Amino acid sequence: MSLNKTKIVATLGPASGDKKTMKKMVLAGVNVFRINFSHSSHEDAEKLIKTIRALNEENEWNIAILADLQGPKLRIGVVEDGVVIAPGDVLTFTNEEKVGTAEEVYMNYKLFPSDVKEGERILVDDGKLLLTVTHTNGIDTVITEVVQGGPLKSKKGVNLPNTKVSLPCLTDKDLADLKVALANKVEWIGLSFVRSAEDVLQLRKIINENEAPSRIISKIEKPEAVVDIDKIIEATDAIMVARGDLGVEVPMQSVPLIQKTIVDKCHRQGKPCVIATQMMESMIENMSPTRAEVNDVANSVLDGADAVMLSGETSVGKYPVEVINAMSKIIAHVEDSGLIQTKEEYPPEEHHERFITDSICYNASKMADQIGASAILTMTFSGYTGFRISSHRPSTNIVVFTANRSILNMVSLIWGVRGFYYDNMESTDATFADIKRIVKEKGIVQEGDMIIKIASMPIQDAGTTNMLKISTI
Ligand code: PGA
Ligand code: MN
Repeated sequence: MSLNKTKIVATLGPASGDKKTMKKMVLAGVNVFRINFSHSSHEDAEKLIKTIRALNEENEWNIAILADLQGPKLRIGVVEDGVVIAPGDVLTFTNEEKVGTAEEVYMNYKLFPSDVKEGERILVDDGKLLLTVTHTNGIDTVITEVVQGGPLKSKKGVNLPNTKVSLPCLTDKDLADLKVALANKVEWIGLSFVRSAEDVLQLRKIINENEAPSRIISKIEKPEAVVDIDKIIEATDAIMVARGDLGVEVPMQSVPLIQKTIVDKCHRQGKPCVIATQMMESMIENMSPTRAEVNDVANSVLDGADAVMLSGETSVGKYPVEVINAMSKIIAHVEDSGLIQTKEEYPPEEHHERFITDSICYNASKMADQIGASAILTMTFSGYTGFRISSHRPSTNIVVFTANRSILNMVSLIWGVRGFYYDNMESTDATFADIKRIVKEKGIVQEGDMIIKIASMPIQDAGTTNMLKISTI
């Protein structure tokens, strides 16, 4: 199995939903499987979840599940075959469900006529078509003029970068999908089209009410989210730079710098960051990626992403295993260079409530690099120290020992982190001896290697992480 530090998230679908392919994908380097509720029925989702749990059980793996909610994705309805619109044409959006023509098309967003204003832009089909609003009756009809034309195809997505969309972040469909995800205790929930920290807190409230262990990945794909990014990072457990919709909602040339800025801000706040969409797009059809795609994956790893994600490449592509192999190779090569660093050093902030723990994590990471330690071992119940150590990007393995089964898989998303179950907290000495033996048995360290252990003392109390110990295997 892969010992890469940068993790791989792979979306499941018709090309990869069988156990045999999934097993091959994990052996090639997958750490997290994504179930996309835009395309999966509840039945499909539950089947996939069962298969992943079975693979974990049979192989002693800790593969995490990301249940990705569709969110307020706007779409047009079915359109007659062969419709093409041209610049200057007038196209009317209606709330009345009917088959679309070159003059009129159905839109699934009921409040569109009251939310939208004259002069605002409408993008259809990943931004291929561009229209501007010339009139709305405020009730059920919006009249637009075509600026950039082309084929108008059924069910294509609509993006409204200038409009304040009053739809909630969690639609009725999302709430139903969320029930399935929470009942199955998936490790990560993807929240699409996040606009503010408030959206994240609403999901958090539902997770807590259901007493589920699931954590939140906020998908950044709206301009409002880019503006409010600091507060969103604070409220969420992880971030996804969702470049597909983001590149339609903001000018596409701003996406690379937004990506770098967000990764850096995530390091600063100790939150993982996933880079998503079109990373290896050409491998949906081809056996090998383009050189530009190889560069994109390598540069995302160099930026300091925790994970890189595949969508169509593994869900509907021809080469779901080969694409993982190719990605793993790129990651391994970049990591070997030793060039992955945070932009600056982020020492803990003194006023922070977890200042002592943060200070231990920061210094453990620095010390690990100074003495060339092969691993940092941490005991944790919440996973917090795993997130925190990783965010400093030490050039060593980070091993989380926990008695909390629900975080074991969760940490698989975090850069450099591997989780092991451990619940024998009799005495500090006995525990340290045990975990040293485990990392040696698992081949993470060798005889003579230096390691750093951090924990709370006394260990039985499982309190604040307050001690750091260096030792030799
Ligand atoms: P999606 O999100 O695949 O759910 O649309 C990713 C993106 O927009 O890039
Ligand atoms: Mn999206």
